[in-house]
Amino acid sequence: MTELHNLGVAELAALLKNKEVSAVDVATRFLARCGGNPHHAFLDIDSEATLAQARASDAKLANGTAGPLEGVPVAHKDVFVTRDFATTAGSKMLSGYRSPFDATVVARLRDAGMVSLGKLNCDEFAMGSSNENSAYGAVTNPWNASYVPGGSSGGSAAAVAARLTPAATGTDTGGSIRQPAAFCGITGIKPTYGRASRYGMVAFASSLDQAGPMARSAEDCALLLNAMCGPDLDRDSTSLNVGAENFSAHLVKSLQGLRVGVPHEFFSDGLAADVRGAIDAALKQLQSQGATLVPISLPRTELSIPVYYIIAPAEASSNLSRFDGVKFGHRAKDFADLTDMYKKTRAEGFGDEVKRRIMTGAYVLSHGYYDAYYLQAQKIRRMIADDFQRAFADCDVIAGPVAPTTAWKLGDKADDPVANYLADIFTLPASLAGLPCMSVPVGLGDGGMPVGLQLIGNYLQEARLLNVAHQFQLTTDHHTQQPGAAA
Ligand code: GLN
Repeated sequence: MTELHNLGVAELAALLKNKEVSAVDVATRFLARCGGNPHHAFLDIDSEATLAQARASDAKLANGTAGPLEGVPVAHKDVFVTRDFATTAGSKMLSGYRSPFDATVVARLRDAGMVSLGKLNCDEFAMGSSNENSAYGAVTNPWNASYVPGGSSGGSAAAVAARLTPAATGTDTGGSIRQPAAFCGITGIKPTYGRASRYGMVAFASSLDQAGPMARSAEDCALLLNAMCGPDLDRDSTSLNVGAENFSAHLVKSLQGLRVGVPHEFFSDGLAADVRGAIDAALKQLQSQGATLVPISLPRTELSIPVYYIIAPAEASSNLSRFDGVKFGHRAKDFADLTDMYKKTRAEGFGDEVKRRIMTGAYVLSHGYYDAYYLQAQKIRRMIADDFQRAFADCDVIAGPVAPTTAWKLGDKADDPVANYLADIFTLPASLAGLPCMSVPVGLGDGGMPVGLQLIGNYLQEARLLNVAHQFQLTTDHHTQQPGAAA
């Protein structure tokens, strides 16, 4: 039998259901893989907490009350609050913080039976594209440890790629599921904004933040998404009142007649030749499976960078005002008075990138600049969303690269925030429009680093995206490739 850690979610769920292996056996195996914290992917592991969940799953498997994913391990990005593990959001500000409740997404995956292995490293408050902004140190890419895993869900992507967990949660505000999935050669999907509850997700930019699964295949992502989506109207004011869906049931449709829109703006001069080559080959593959390629235009693609880097920091500056040293998190030791306490607490607790965004955000929201920046950005955001609706008149899904290049070397862009921001160009448009979108591994570029194909669907078309990815994965083996680099 293939070693347990090489099995995916669907395979593990079947073995557990047939009692060929116990949840405790599976958890023990994966905990052993996580020993020594390879790639620095985890921020908190607590074997006892994991084994307690596994024992509870074994009891359910024995008495016939098991959920669909009973006993299958998962690990959570450290922006989801959890009762069983500390939650830091990659920040010193929340060092050692323990939530009294589980985020809705965490609770729903547990209700489906998943056993949590712990919390995964990420950029501080999910701000970043390389995981180098984590206050606890960077994550390394399992394909080559001198490269970044992408961000901000870098720990999630690295852990799945390195077979430390069969699946993980991530969050995507401007690309943080898709880009690390692409850089680490795994599959990840961000659903339509509002489909997965934000309750219990440490807020970055509330009009953009969305949770989603990261796993090796579209089939496995669908299994997690089945549990993650659904209304949470009392606890998340932007939760969509759209019932839960069985995404797995949709993975059966051939690609015959599928219209794949290819935006020429995603294939500009800035696209690295190796990425272009892998994306072109993937598009040809989709064609050979019956899809037709339709040239489309998303004319405001470039504007998505300034628009996002106004709106996201504006919302972040407001969301992060709660970290004042009073109710929870870090508090400076020595201070003269209340104002001094706020100042010192925030100066000590936040890292450079977070401070940069708080300052930018406060600036664009301030009197006199609000109209010139924030309001303008909101108007262009609407135009970007409208561009997508025009495009979807001619196509069923949109396809292109996730990022202009493969993963870069650790340190290469660490001191250059703008270089990081520019690398988000292809993921930001769908985020600003609130559309579902995913990353699918399509092979290796120069230096053996993975390339991700981005698929974007219209609102609530997650099932269609997952089916396209699944049909592609049925006939290709990129998603089964394993990093050869030693842990
Ligand atoms: N890289 C983007 C940023 O730094 C996106 C982050 C995210 O999606 N959380 O804001």
